[in-house]
Amino acid sequence: MTVTLSEAHRDVRALAREFAANEIAPRAAEWNAAKHVPIDVIRRMGSLGLLAPTIPEQYGGAGLDATSLCLVVEEIARADAGTSVSIAVQSGLVASPLLRAGTEAQKDEWLPRIASGEVLGCYALTEPDAGSDTAALRTRATASGDGWDITGSKQWISNGSMADVFIVFARTGGEGARGVSAFVTGRAPGLEVGREIPKLGLHTSSTVELAFDSMHVPGHALLGPEGEGLKLALATLDGGRITIAAQACGIAQAAIDLSVAYASERDAFGGPIARFQGVQFPIADVAAQLDAARLLTLHAAALRDAGEPHGAAGAKAKLFASSVAVRAADVAVQTLGGYGYSAEYDAERLYRDAKITEIYEGTSQIQRLVIARDLFGDAAR
Ligand SMILES: Cc1cc2nc3c(=O)[nH]c(=O)nc-3n(C[C@H](O)[C@H](O)[C@H](O)COP(=O)(O)OP(=O)(O)OC[C@H]3O[C@@H](n4cnc5c(N)ncnc54)[C@H](O)[C@@H]3O)c2cc1C
Repeated sequence: MTVTLSEAHRDVRALAREFAANEIAPRAAEWNAAKHVPIDVIRRMGSLGLLAPTIPEQYGGAGLDATSLCLVVEEIARADAGTSVSIAVQSGLVASPLLRAGTEAQKDEWLPRIASGEVLGCYALTEPDAGSDTAALRTRATASGDGWDITGSKQWISNGSMADVFIVFARTGGEGARGVSAFVTGRAPGLEVGREIPKLGLHTSSTVELAFDSMHVPGHALLGPEGEGLKLALATLDGGRITIAAQACGIAQAAIDLSVAYASERDAFGGPIARFQGVQFPIADVAAQLDAARLLTLHAAALRDAGEPHGAAGAKAKLFASSVAVRAADVAVQTLGGYGYSAEYDAERLYRDAKITEIYEGTSQIQRLVIARDLFGDAAR
């Protein structure tokens, strides 16, 4: 496993790092307290080509690879995990299925505005009774006139409150995986954006319920072949998980940065606490684990860039990197002592934000399932 960053990769990382340091980090605590990120910050990332960097130049994007996307997400997550969700969704969950399954007309209609941030998107797969078990989804699309009427409800939809384009998965056939189709649509009558769901962390990312009541979409809103929606949803998540692994690396890096800075300045027993091995070693452990997590993440991205299978590699990266993020944030809280527990210091936010990386785009158990299926094949089903 080798991971080499090109000069172009280092340049895009430098751009994202500078944007994060100047435009996000100084205001991240304030935005999290207000549970809000200014929309113009998200759009500015679009104008810099950071919001959906993998959209090809022919559709108005920066034409960068999955490795670049990981580098961008890690840098933005290092400043604020919630803000990085907008990139993970816009690029990994909205642009990606459009690029994979969209018609030229669908790509021309949506991708240039997704790349620039003029249009924000969301990915509506999960339902109140269908999370890990995606094939149990019940939202239904019924043929009607020149298109489809969509009825049902979705839950936990990131960016749903501000989205102008929706990737929606709905049942067009019978029970099970083969009865599901994907749609790409703008807002239309019959769509209701529900309440903002209160969360443990990730306060700068909006998460809402969506209700569809006979929302009519034209026939050309079908994304990919009828009945192959779940295949598209899962292929999208194969790539999206690499992005979440990168987000976890950013959170872990922020936790380590904070731990080192605080331990170097905080005095106890006549000098900085950084001189105690009891303080150093947990930070050293997570620093080693973060290097490994980053390598797994960039390895999975490199496989994706090479057009190789990357489902299991992405699952390994997400499984490991998310556990490192949780551990590193725990170490940061412990290193800061009482201040670590205070909502006035960043360790507490990192601790709350890290946990989500073990849950969304497939829980850690589901990542183990993906890895086991890769190891055992049909014997694991
Ligand atoms: C903040 C946030 C943002 C999100 N954003 C989006 C979004 O933008 N779009 C979207 O579609 N979804 C989104 N989700 C949904 C997310 O992907 C799901 O919450 C996640 O996949 C888990 O589904 P669930 O919550 O229904 O849990 P369940 O599927 O009900 O799982 C409950 C528990 O059972 C375990 N479990 C389930 N099945 C198995 C199994 N076979 N083997 C072992 N253990 C199992 C799980 O690991 C978990 O611990 C978001 C969720 C959150 C919290």
